[in-house]
Amino acid sequence: MRLCSNEIVKGDLMKIGNKRKSRLSEFTIKEYGINGVLLAILFLLGLFLSWKLSWFAGLLYLVFWAASYAVLFAMTCRNCANYGKSCPVPLEGSCVQRFFGRGEKFGFMAGAGAVLAYFMRVCIPFVAIFQMGSFLYFILYTGVFAGFFYVLLYHTGCPNCINTNCPFNPDYCV
Ligand code: SF4
Repeated sequence: MRLCSNEIVKGDLMKIGNKRKSRLSEFTIKEYGINGVLLAILFLLGLFLSWKLSWFAGLLYLVFWAASYAVLFAMTCRNCANYGKSCPVPLEGSCVQRFFGRGEKFGFMAGAGAVLAYFMRVCIPFVAIFQMGSFLYFILYTGVFAGFFYVLLYHTGCPNCINTNCPFNPDYCV
């Protein structure tokens, strides 16, 4: 028997609790605009924190951020239903076709690619925060990071997404 995410009850494998809003085959600036602003704030705050650690950390941060796109494109976006179209995050699904052909399946490795890419984006700023021992920066940076994903996963992106092979999709079946 196949279980869909909105049918999964407490105690089962996964409970995302995401509600379907609509099915967008192409996202517009109305949905991805706020995600773009939050991602830009995350990027700039991360750059500021990394640069405070050292100029080398700042440069490494930029290299990691650029490399994270290669990881996302190769492992995640090429396998997504949003391949080659405006997706919930600017510069991702809409750019992948310039670098990689369409993949076949959005499976475990696609999720692993997304986790790895975001780890690459935030690891140096978190090292900088722990080095400084600043609780204020920790709250601020973690808040922006969590806020970006909260808006994406529960408001602008996933509730409208057609990639039903993704566990965050309201129609995902296991
Ligand atoms: S359901 Fe959410 S995380 Fe999954 S592909 Fe769609 S927008 Fe991305």
